[in-house]
Amino acid sequence: MFDHLMRELRKLEQGVSLPVSIPLDEQGYLDRQCPAVECRSQFKVLFNDWREKVQDEVVYCAVCRHEAPATEWNTSTQAAYMVSVTEAYVQRTVGRALRQDATHFNRQAKPGFVSIALDVRPGAPIAIVPLEAADAMRQTWTCERCGCHYAAIGAAFFCPACGYNSAIASFDYMLTHVRDLITNLPASRTALLTAYDADLASDTIRLMLENSLVRLVGSFQCYSEALFMQVPSSSGYKRRKNIFQNLTEVSSLWRTAVGSGYEALLLSQEYADLNRLFQQRHLVVHRDAIVDQEYLDKSGDHTYSIGQRLVVTEASVLLLTDLVAKLGTALRGLV
Ligand SMILES: [Zn+2]
Ligand SMILES: [Zn+2]
Repeated sequence: MFDHLMRELRKLEQGVSLPVSIPLDEQGYLDRQCPAVECRSQFKVLFNDWREKVQDEVVYCAVCRHEAPATEWNTSTQAAYMVSVTEAYVQRTVGRALRQDATHFNRQAKPGFVSIALDVRPGAPIAIVPLEAADAMRQTWTCERCGCHYAAIGAAFFCPACGYNSAIASFDYMLTHVRDLITNLPASRTALLTAYDADLASDTIRLMLENSLVRLVGSFQCYSEALFMQVPSSSGYKRRKNIFQNLTEVSSLWRTAVGSGYEALLLSQEYADLNRLFQQRHLVVHRDAIVDQEYLDKSGDHTYSIGQRLVVTEASVLLLTDLVAKLGTALRGLV
């Protein structure tokens, strides 16, 4: 009685492939979403690179470097779209088979005392909402190792195709990010004061400034190390662990390798400021920003006494941004 239906169901059971087209944004990028539940970050990959550079076996999240096969990266909207395309296909196929079975049954039914008619009423067709690509993202990146192009909102640290974390690209991004953050600080302060009480707003701004100082120094250290690795003779230099965190030692490492240390690439006042701000970062990270004797000795900063709490100002953060940007450019010229 249900021959057509059974045949279609057997076909479905064996699997059918449905063509589903996913739109790209106006710059040719494909939307992707990290499958890791803690992350779920959205980013984009240039579709040509997704096809040619990304492997089927493993793709890396641009934000957290989670690894998963290429089939796992649909955004929730893309996944919902695929489900509705599949459901609509099943509804059409099953409905058609049922109608064929009903016609066949009714034709064969013999009139008698009891007459049974098989009636098939299709339900409302499943609506497929057209899928649209998310707007193009402002921040685009090109992997230094494999050339894959990708985009994200905010920072993206890893290449989706090869997982490479570019310290050099991250440093450039950090400079722009910190400058934007300082420019928008008055607006952030107003927004925070509207949303929270004055204590919380002021603490948040202070943490943002201290965090900017810490991140700038950290990012510059990674950058300096990554650039140093590009110096042809760099593998010949014996290096102490964490040497890139020590301004004097890393400066003399560069001087030995390429002839110029940090002091030679900055004016003497600039180098003194850089040293003072690096020492401030050390206080923030290791002493909860409370001034100690070591800070006074190493920074040459006489505006504080022991036991005072350091105040990280917008001017200090901007100064540090300019100094590491200048030094960064000079180092790049030496490699
Ligand atoms: Zn992720
Ligand atoms: Zn790559």
